[in-house]
Amino acid sequence: RVKDLGKNGHAFYDPSMHDALHQNVALEQHLRRALERNELEMYYQPQIDAASGRIIGAEALMRWNHPVRGLIMPGEFLPFAEESGLIVPISEWMIDTLCRDMAHWGTDGADPLTLSLNLSPHYLDHSKFFETMRNALQRYDIGPGRIAVEITENICIRNPQYAIEQLKKLGQLGVSVAIDDFGTGYSSLAYLHRFPIHTIKIDQSFVQQISDEDGHYPVVLAIISISRGLNLDLVAEGVETEVQARYLRAHGCSTMQGFLFHRPMPLGGFVNVLNS
Ligand code: C2E
Ligand code: MG
Ligand code: MG
Ligand code: MG
Repeated sequence: RVKDLGKNGHAFYDPSMHDALHQNVALEQHLRRALERNELEMYYQPQIDAASGRIIGAEALMRWNHPVRGLIMPGEFLPFAEESGLIVPISEWMIDTLCRDMAHWGTDGADPLTLSLNLSPHYLDHSKFFETMRNALQRYDIGPGRIAVEITENICIRNPQYAIEQLKKLGQLGVSVAIDDFGTGYSSLAYLHRFPIHTIKIDQSFVQQISDEDGHYPVVLAIISISRGLNLDLVAEGVETEVQARYLRAHGCSTMQGFLFHRPMPLGGFVNVLNS
């Protein structure tokens, strides 16, 4: 931890390090209590089929309803959960909550919706991860193909062989794998085709560069072309404008997600959207 503080710009004899250390200890206690007191909540952001405009699934995104500070976004507390090891109980809570919530996603005979969840590399490495996932799928009777796990490219680089094995185990449970934020990490194209993945998600930073329907956005086009070449599904995230949606659709992106369609929302809101 001290080393990490160093990385974050605190020198060893900087008095502010004491504050940071205290803040970290306090945050760890607060986060532990948040889990016990049910202050964490999963939000859902619909994923849209580009051709029909229909909702075909949702990505689950974590929020912390802090009693004093209000809604806290995952970028503010998940890095800390990873550093402190709390990511393990938090991920277990998340998997159970998501599988339970899915029982409320009635779709009246339409194709069942899929759920995408973000998995921390620290948790994918954890020995109980596979068992937790299998038990939750069984307990809530979730059929194969309904869950996709999103991981970032970097996970595949650290120990590719191990990552391949873990992802294959997920595949045996009927869980598919998406590479999140594609294009922003250290993706090795040499490895990508060996990974048992099904989907890549274009990072929102590339999507948001699209400002002109007739413009030329080579990175977006390159990612679309990689997905085709490797026969992977493609999801664009962070779609905020009609122009972006039209450009992506015109170039063959099949699934979209973003504020243009829906913001992430609590389970109740998501169910209302499905039924409206
Ligand atoms: P991500 O998985 O890449 O999620 C996409 C982020 O973009 C989400 O931020 C989402 O709210 C936001 N977003 C969606 N549509 C738009 C849009 O049109 N415009 C803009 N500007 N933003 C949009 P959020 O919810 O703050 O999550 C941030 C990151 O935290 C996620 O990035 C993911 O890496 C991580 N995360 C979120 N929930 C979980 C979780 O349950 N477990 C783990 N391990 N990580 C999570
Ligand atoms: Mg994601
Ligand atoms: Mg992403
Ligand atoms: Mg992201």
